Amino acid sequence: MNTYLDLAVKQAARSRCRYRVGAVLAKGGRILAHSSNRYRNAPSTDFHHATFHAEEVLLRRTRSARGAVVYVARVSKNGTPALARPCPRCQRALAADGVIRALYTTPTGAGSLRLS
Ligand SMILES: [Zn+2]
Repeated sequence: MNTYLDLAVKQAARSRCRYRVGAVLAKGGRILAHSSNRYRNAPSTDFHHATFHAEEVLLRRTRSARGAVVYVARVSKNGTPALARPCPRCQRALAADGVIRALYTTPTGAGSLRLS
């Protein structure tokens, strides 16, 4: 499997959220940012915005994502890769910041999505 995707899996494994997702933003062989998804408030406060998606954390940490590729991974409870296709909101945010492609884990390997 792809090295950056492997790194995204490691990030996902560090997540303390219920759905464990990790992401790596890379451009020209260089890593711009990496993170797992994170809690932003208690679910009782605002259930639908209880977490920052991993992709959102990357964009908040990166000055320019133009031309970059994002690698997104999710791991299940037993640590195996699960479907991590970016959600529509993250797809829009990534495309708006110039990220050209997303590669993500699936239960059987990897998927790819063209963004902008
Ligand atoms: Zn998302």
